[in-house]
Amino acid sequence: MRDTVGSKTHDGFSVLAIGAHPDDIELGCGGSLAKLASAGARIQAVIFSKGRRGTLSDADRERESHAALATLGVRDVAIYDFEDTKLTYSLNEMIGTLDEHVRSFNPDRVYTMFQHDRHQDHRAVYEASAVSCRHVAQLLGYETPSSYPNFTPTVFEQIDGHLKTKIRALNCHTSQGDRLYMQEEKVCSAASFRGVQILLGACEGFIPYKIVL
Ligand SMILES: [Zn+2]
Repeated sequence: MRDTVGSKTHDGFSVLAIGAHPDDIELGCGGSLAKLASAGARIQAVIFSKGRRGTLSDADRERESHAALATLGVRDVAIYDFEDTKLTYSLNEMIGTLDEHVRSFNPDRVYTMFQHDRHQDHRAVYEASAVSCRHVAQLLGYETPSSYPNFTPTVFEQIDGHLKTKIRALNCHTSQGDRLYMQEEKVCSAASFRGVQILLGACEGFIPYKIVL
C-alpha cells in the first residue's frame, strides 16, 4: 500500500465508496471524497439499490446519483438494482458483486456504512463490506442521519473547503429535497458539530473498522 497519510497530494491513491441507496455516500463522506478527488485520488462508487422505496414520485434517482457524484469529482460509478429495503436477503450476491469491485479496483481505502445503523439496508452494506474488504488496508464507516445517535467517530476529515461542494452534490437529489437532513442548514450543523468535537472547523467523522499503518 502507498503511504499517503499526512501528505497533501493523493495522486494514485485509490478510494472505494460504498452505499446502499442514492445519496448515502454523499451524506456520509461527500466532503471527504471531494477533497480526495481534488487532491488527485482515484475514486470509485458502488451503490447497491436504486432507492425506489425512498420516493413517492417516479424520480430518476440513478440520474440524480450520477450528477451528485460527478459534482464531487467521482465519475466511476456502479449502481445496482438490488431490492430497496431488502438488501439483507441478498447478502451473498452483494458480497460477490463487491468482491469483483475490490479485486479489479484494488482500493487503498474503503468508505462504507455504519455497522449499527438503524436502517437494515445500511447494516447489510456494512456486512458485505466487512467480508469483501478483508484485504483492504483502510476500512472506514461513515455517518448518515440514520446512524444517530450511537455513532461515535474517532477518525475525522476536515472539509471546510469542500462543504459547499458537498451541499451542491446533495442538491442534485431533487427527489429527496423535502427531507430535513438534506437541507443546507442541517448538513452544515452536522459538519460543525463533528468539527467542534476535535476543535476544528467543518468535519466528517468516521468509525475506523480497520487501519493498517
Ligand atoms: Zn440509505
